[in-house]
Amino acid sequence: MKPETTAIHASNLVKAVTGDVTSPIHLSTTYFRGEDGGYPGGHMYSRVSNPNRSALEKVITELEGGADTCAFSSGNTAGMAIFQALKPGSHIIAPDDMYWGFKKQLLTIFADTLSFDFVDLTEVDNVENYIKANTVLLWVETPSNPLLKICDIEVLGKIAKKHELIFAVDSTFASPILQNPIALGADIVMHSTTKYIGGHSDVLGGSLTFAAKNEFFDKIKNIQETGGAVPSPFDCFLLLRSIKTLAYRIKGHCENAEKLANYLNEHSKVEAVYYPGLPSHPQHEIVKKQMKGFGGMLSILTKGDADFARKVVNSVKVFSQATSLGGVESLIEHRASVEGPTSKTPQNLIRISVGLEHIDDLIADLEQALG
Ligand SMILES: *Cc1c(COP(=O)(O)O)cnc(C)c1O
Repeated sequence: MKPETTAIHASNLVKAVTGDVTSPIHLSTTYFRGEDGGYPGGHMYSRVSNPNRSALEKVITELEGGADTCAFSSGNTAGMAIFQALKPGSHIIAPDDMYWGFKKQLLTIFADTLSFDFVDLTEVDNVENYIKANTVLLWVETPSNPLLKICDIEVLGKIAKKHELIFAVDSTFASPILQNPIALGADIVMHSTTKYIGGHSDVLGGSLTFAAKNEFFDKIKNIQETGGAVPSPFDCFLLLRSIKTLAYRIKGHCENAEKLANYLNEHSKVEAVYYPGLPSHPQHEIVKKQMKGFGGMLSILTKGDADFARKVVNSVKVFSQATSLGGVESLIEHRASVEGPTSKTPQNLIRISVGLEHIDDLIADLEQALG
């Protein structure tokens, strides 16, 4: 089935006696045992599994073309499960512009147990220079945040395979609609389901989808079940509801973002636009090869200093000045001040999550904010 159909039907696991067309929310934390001591309903205790989470894991698995998925209570806990599953002393290669929450995990929580290099993964010829005897994981994020850099998943996958590294892709900015890294060689696809999959800025979550149910999958499953950083049944219900419209929301995000990028690209107060859909984007050819659309995220460099960039984000009326992305409402932020004093993000950079409002209203709002 095509993703539009999968998104609507793959999660309907419940054949309730009441004949529900959509799945109810299962709040029970515990389940009846059968006379033989087994669990005839397929669930024992809701930290281990519950019907809403199983449905969520199933639909994400199908959309990504994987073997199985583990859902977590946030994107950060999904990523952290991978770092927790590595043997102490392991070395990781990660992008130089890795999502700052993950970089912070490595630098603070895992500083004593793991080692890592943050590398520009768009320069694929350079990557092998960083592989050491104890390197076990190649972590990729594409499109990246906030510069929308694109990594060649297929080429990096071959490098990972040659050196027997676990190859994980943070595909949050793409969503399962625009990019399926497993088909391009990834072992694991990570999503912050908080973003496009949730899509309404009202639920936090994360997921890891595996190409194979191997030994590493078992380790992650154990961290999920025993660590217990799982989404609640209500979180899963919200995500399942959102996934049904994911393909159509993504279509709208892409259309609006492409128009906004073209508008900003011509604007006299804008020095640069970072959007994978612009022919001037340095990895535009890779984008066309591995993505089905250009996404809803873009960043701009305003002409002038940080003060002008801050003035722009303070002058918007339709956009909301807030962090995060992937919701129906357009968000705008001065990224360097979100990331703090150690941020390497340019001071004149503004990041935009293009929502589903009418494009004319979005353009008019930026027109008045840029002055
Ligand atoms: C938001 C985000 C995360 C972290 O997810 P949370 O749900 O906020 O914990 C990881 N990677 C990327 C690319 C993100 O945008």
